[in-house]
Amino acid sequence: MKKIMLLCIAAVMGLAMLTAGCGDNATSSDNASSGSGDAKALKVGTNADFAPFEFQGEGSDEYQGFDMDIIRAVGKEMGVNVEINNIAFDGLIPALQSGNIDIAISGMSITDERKQQVTFSDPYYDSGLTAMVKADNNDINSFADLNGKKIAVQIGTTGAEEAKKIPNAQVKEMNSSADTFLELKAGNVDAVLNDKPVNDYYMVKNSDSTVKRVGEKLTSESYGIALKKDNTELAAKINEAIQKLKENGQYNEIYKKWFGTEPTDNK
Ligand code: GLN
Repeated sequence: MKKIMLLCIAAVMGLAMLTAGCGDNATSSDNASSGSGDAKALKVGTNADFAPFEFQGEGSDEYQGFDMDIIRAVGKEMGVNVEINNIAFDGLIPALQSGNIDIAISGMSITDERKQQVTFSDPYYDSGLTAMVKADNNDINSFADLNGKKIAVQIGTTGAEEAKKIPNAQVKEMNSSADTFLELKAGNVDAVLNDKPVNDYYMVKNSDSTVKRVGEKLTSESYGIALKKDNTELAAKINEAIQKLKENGQYNEIYKKWFGTEPTDNK
């Protein structure tokens, strides 16, 4: 009897190992996921600490934001469920490469460096970096004034890269853009360098009169959905779905919901 049981266990384990190893969707789901157990589901990675693109609202676990609405609409268009995994921003590309997720949507700017590691969808949002300082700071009025200053940025981002190019700047790398704001408010840094829509949303949402924006955009960047380098087939399907959303007005609707206006140059 014991022997038969052991055999059964061995057979089941063998089967599980086999099924885990085959098919395109063979991804492990050991991330904090809203796992549906749906083998066909699109496994999406995001760093849900980047309002208004991806975040968990107060008192709610639900992932919300522009990117979240876009990817759910893309999933609907493609006829697949979407399973969101919350991953550190600098862990998204490794998660794509290891096959733990199928796509990453996380306000991720398309850069030449990242293009060597992943495939990007067509651009779906135009962005760029801006700085913020304390409201009573009269020394910093432009990017040139950031020379030699203490700047908080989010680790692994274009903001972090740009800050490191500023002469003599002391760059403090935080885990999230939310943490950069806390660092500024605490007076531990002179400025933060984040994506413009994230800084703008922070100002509007928090009506925070202790901080202010400075200067124009330092860079022009476009967000893309990232995929494993060789996953060009899925990239084409995603591009098609985004195009449909632009044509049928859903993209504009979602844009208006989060930014209050129709897109001007994001089409
Ligand atoms: N757009 C920036 C980048 O791609 C920041 C993204 C983010 O923090 N989610 O690096």
